Amino acid sequence: MIFENVLGAMNPGAGISDFLVLFGLVVAAILVILAGTAVFFEYMNRRHPERKIQKTRVNDRKWRELAYAPGSISVIALTFSGGLFCQWQGWALTPLPMTWWSVPLTFGVSMVLYDAWFYWVHRLLHWTPMYRFHAQHHTSVCPTIWTNHYETIVEALLNQSFYTLIVFILPIPWPLLVAQKIYDQISGMLGHAGYEHFASPMARTPWPLASTVFHDQHHGFFRYNYGHTFSVWDRLMGTIHPKYDDTVKSFEHMKPTVAAE
Ligand SMILES: [Zn+2]
Ligand SMILES: [Zn+2]
Repeated sequence: MIFENVLGAMNPGAGISDFLVLFGLVVAAILVILAGTAVFFEYMNRRHPERKIQKTRVNDRKWRELAYAPGSISVIALTFSGGLFCQWQGWALTPLPMTWWSVPLTFGVSMVLYDAWFYWVHRLLHWTPMYRFHAQHHTSVCPTIWTNHYETIVEALLNQSFYTLIVFILPIPWPLLVAQKIYDQISGMLGHAGYEHFASPMARTPWPLASTVFHDQHHGFFRYNYGHTFSVWDRLMGTIHPKYDDTVKSFEHMKPTVAAE
């Protein structure tokens, strides 16, 4: 009901107060996803301690890292609401009607474009003049789910402005953008989970997907694995960690070391 009211208010001619309502709803949705994903991974990590990736390191900086979440989440909500608002106001490309071919096509293109965007923005942030905006995130050498929002406003803006810009270059229906953002929020936390729960052959060569080990190695070794969902750009550019595939494989048939609760 609230959602329909918001949508109704978002016709061309909507004002700043309508945008603020949208912004508030997006913040609320991000917090719900954050809480749900956190409960899931806290449970899984406790249940499967053998799946910890960096066995000898600990991270007890939960609250220190969470202190940056309000800034990070505000930027994510602002840029994402901005994209939706521009499309709903008719300022961006007219989205395609949702059909059997337009849904997988625009969703797939958006996912591939975001991964390319993320890889190259991330490489840019590792460039010496820009690194000061990213250095803080890397003080977390052994990431946890709480590290996902441990970022500066500048890096959040660089990463997330994709969601404002995409509606101007791809006629993607807005529900698909919402689905992509939900996936993005969950997969961002998965990448920082610190435990490999979903190792599978799909996450290693010749398949393009990346698992938790992928971004964990970025934090642990610093100069490898800059991508997000796919390992393709890292493989193409020679920045994939040399032991990535073997490490994923080592988790695939791991037996639990503790009895199930
Ligand atoms: Zn980095
Ligand atoms: Zn990270």
